Amino acid sequence: MQSEILLNHISMTYQQEGKNSITALEDISMGIEKGTFVSLLGPSGCGKSTLLGIMADLLQPSSGEISIAGESPRTARLNKKYGIVFQNAVLYDWRTVEQNIGLPLEVMKVKDKNNKKEWLDRIEEMLELVNLKDFAKYYPHQLSGGMQQRVSIARALAINPEILLMDEPFSALDEFSKERLQDDLLRIWTKTSKTIIFVTHSIAEAVYLSDQVYVMSPHPGRLSAVVDIDLPRQRTQDMRESKQFYSLVSKIRHSFELEEA
Ligand code: ADP
Ligand code: MG
Repeated sequence: MQSEILLNHISMTYQQEGKNSITALEDISMGIEKGTFVSLLGPSGCGKSTLLGIMADLLQPSSGEISIAGESPRTARLNKKYGIVFQNAVLYDWRTVEQNIGLPLEVMKVKDKNNKKEWLDRIEEMLELVNLKDFAKYYPHQLSGGMQQRVSIARALAINPEILLMDEPFSALDEFSKERLQDDLLRIWTKTSKTIIFVTHSIAEAVYLSDQVYVMSPHPGRLSAVVDIDLPRQRTQDMRESKQFYSLVSKIRHSFELEEA
């Protein structure tokens, strides 16, 4: 089976004028299957955002090869193969929820006279997917942080990409909203069958959500372990207290300790 995302010996060095260069990633290889939920987990500075940026064609690696849905990151970007969600919702304050969600469709010219209905239907479908139908006419500042992040997810999925790239999307939320959003995201993932790459520094979050966790270590950023999460689908909150959950968390924690030893 062909990998949806394939990285072959990717390294990334930031050249800084007048300062030492920084090796953010060293020799990263991974193959991610279509439709899986994968986390990139590690402490701050281990290169998670750099790696996601390379997948999203926001950064060019110093060496190595990468393919996204069988294409170069550039072509994949132009063909709208992925959507991105960042830690802060980055919504436009002067646009309502539905106008924010519709933005990528406007950019793609879905909103011209001929397909106005298609445009409205798609926004409606996205509002329903993230449970925000009653908030279509609200402005971002009228929403909680969790709701704003649901708008970001809807906006990223509006163009129906195959892949969703997420950089610590729930890190700024309180513990209660975070758990709710994690369940929302899993429901959306099950319903839409996207491939999700989820960046986080929380071990428990990575275990709860993922099929596979790629554990990364800093200085320089590299892959230190790949852990399969064999908890049953669908995930439920009570699993967080199961023996199996604890043992996966401690397995990952040990892989960090071994690195430091
Ligand atoms: P993470 O997302 O895991 O916190 P980053 O990918 O942001 O890690 O950063 C990895 C390393 O690369 C860090 O040491 C960071 O300081 C460095 N870095 C990130 N972006 C730049 C940049 N634009 N210029 C120089 N160094 C950078
Ligand atoms: Mg980061």
